[in-house]
Amino acid sequence: MYPVKEKLHEALRSLPDGVRLVAISKYHPEDFIMAAYEEGQRVFGESHEQELARKMKALPADIEWHFIGHLQTNKVKYIAPYISMIEAVDSLKLLREIEKQAAKVDRVVKVLLELHIAEESTKYGLTLDACRQLLSDGEWRQMSHVQICGLMMMASNVDDEAQIANEFRQAADFFDEVKARYFASDSYFCERSWGMSDDYPIAVQHRSTMVRIGTMIFGPRIY
Ligand SMILES: *Cc1c(COP(=O)(O)O)cnc(C)c1O
Repeated sequence: MYPVKEKLHEALRSLPDGVRLVAISKYHPEDFIMAAYEEGQRVFGESHEQELARKMKALPADIEWHFIGHLQTNKVKYIAPYISMIEAVDSLKLLREIEKQAAKVDRVVKVLLELHIAEESTKYGLTLDACRQLLSDGEWRQMSHVQICGLMMMASNVDDEAQIANEFRQAADFFDEVKARYFASDSYFCERSWGMSDDYPIAVQHRSTMVRIGTMIFGPRIY
């Protein structure tokens, strides 16, 4: 078996205080997740609703599940009863659906707004202007079953470290803008979810509070 325990500790040791690890377990088997769980890891991220539902039922109830992938609105109702955080909210339509489904089960679901800063055109997420628009529109203020806890983004998948750093810097600056304008007195708006296996050391230099690491801990995914 892949040395999950050793790799988990290696990842944890490399993180500065105040940066949380979301262990990205998509496509990895339940015994890999349990190996990390036994070492104390409690926050895991998945990106497919059915795979997540299967794992959630089979694994300990005190795991905090984060949904990290692109979420279709018709899937929200399945995860609303138990999801801890939905990291990749990229439209008002999705936010409305989370509000609706969370209200039905009387929960408050934490969410992050996903930014599109990377140059790749295939990636999801709100452009900075679209994110400004969503927030200035103000409908989210009426939503009592979602709590916007911060921002999430993925940097371009490139070797150029200066470009990656520049993208994280843009995200961190944008966080400050949004925090000051809309959430200055809301301590829950504090999360900056950026950094994956290949780029998290750069992300933590640019004020990430939450890194999403899969491959480094669990090995290559078999699709
Ligand atoms: C798969 C995934 C990750 C983890 O990527 P690794 O390179 O395996 O660390 C992080 N964030 C998102 C949104 C992902 O889909």
